[in-house]
Amino acid sequence: MNAPVIQQNPYQSMLDRFNIAADILQLTPSLRQKLQQPEKQVLVNFSITLDNGEEKNFDGYRVIHSTVLGPSKGGIRYDTGVHLDEVKALAAWMTWKSGATGIPFGGAKGGIICEPIELSKTELERLTRAYTKALADTFGPDKDVPAPDMGTGPDEMGWLMDEFSLLHGKPVHAVVTGKHLHSGGSLGRTEATGKGVSIITLLTLKKLGFSPAHTTVAIQGFGNVGLHTALFLYENGLKVIAVSDIDVALHNADGFDIPQLIAYYNANGRSLLGYKNADAIPHESLLTLNADVLIPAAKEDVITARNAADINANIIIEAANGPVASDADAILNQKGITVVPDIVANAGGVTVSYFEWLQNSHLESWDIDTINQKLEEILSASFENLYETARSLSLPLRTAAYVIAVKKVAETLRLKQNIPGGAITAN
Ligand code: GLU
Repeated sequence: MNAPVIQQNPYQSMLDRFNIAADILQLTPSLRQKLQQPEKQVLVNFSITLDNGEEKNFDGYRVIHSTVLGPSKGGIRYDTGVHLDEVKALAAWMTWKSGATGIPFGGAKGGIICEPIELSKTELERLTRAYTKALADTFGPDKDVPAPDMGTGPDEMGWLMDEFSLLHGKPVHAVVTGKHLHSGGSLGRTEATGKGVSIITLLTLKKLGFSPAHTTVAIQGFGNVGLHTALFLYENGLKVIAVSDIDVALHNADGFDIPQLIAYYNANGRSLLGYKNADAIPHESLLTLNADVLIPAAKEDVITARNAADINANIIIEAANGPVASDADAILNQKGITVVPDIVANAGGVTVSYFEWLQNSHLESWDIDTINQKLEEILSASFENLYETARSLSLPLRTAAYVIAVKKVAETLRLKQNIPGGAITAN
């Protein structure tokens, strides 16, 4: 019999993990309260004219969780399922991501409730410009710096930059990252999250004694993150035996030829549907396949208490934000599954966003070798720190990541605001 479906709230998942770390760090009630709630939540409503001449209203959000470590940073999501608690969770995860990897940014997230595939390019442009206008006082290169997320990409970031620049009467490239190269984007940004996920996967395999050539992988989601993760892991000799997108989940026990699959996907209107060299499987069963590594790269809450006991992978690398709900944590830990948490596993995106912001701010342009080398350095150091913290405190990797991040933000805040209580430590 199936267990009852438990609806998880991503903000609750974030709080559950935060509170475990806050207990370990013995945070004062005052610090806890300051770090649980976002600093600022902006709800906007605006209208645009559709191509058919009709006027349509949209709801948008921008949540600034924290500016303790620096200007707030985080993507903008275009999706019908966007809601305030999701944006609040995603914003907080950005804070912890920067905290866990040493990037000098705070955390934010934004979103518009819309179905982007139903909007034309010109409608998307009007939507993005209207959202930017509505949030012109919130965004800023030294205040709050958006980036792409689900349903957005370099086009939207370019329009946002242009609108913001028009409103300020000067070019302001550093107000947003993830732009096209010609609009001040950075080399390596498009593939950064997937590249980072593959770097972290390889480091995890090494720690656990797996050889890449004998490792099988299942990847849920074939958007920008899933696609590039699949490509880099394939290039490193891993066998990708399952992939999925919104239309279909596919299994090939011999391993996919990923460059061929990507060529098919792009030629097929960005859909995996109809790909020949594979068996179609139910979406849900991709998660429970017998693969060494499971990489959820779609969205939050795909692994919950409902299906956690059925997971067969030895390792989960969280490429999406929040793909494992907090009610699944204990079950996965009991099963001995190594879960590398999102706030480190997918930090490659914000890391190269930081490089883009630095290049824009200093009117520089870095070559790809420099970017890849710096990305590798930051992620390897973060991973080592994570592993060492988990080992020395005997904690699961997720709890260790939160301990590192929360400690850093809480200690910075304590010193800045002279909050009573001693230095924050985990011992
Ligand atoms: N949306 C991405 C994330 O969740 C990138 C954020 C950024 O580059 O600021 O990490």
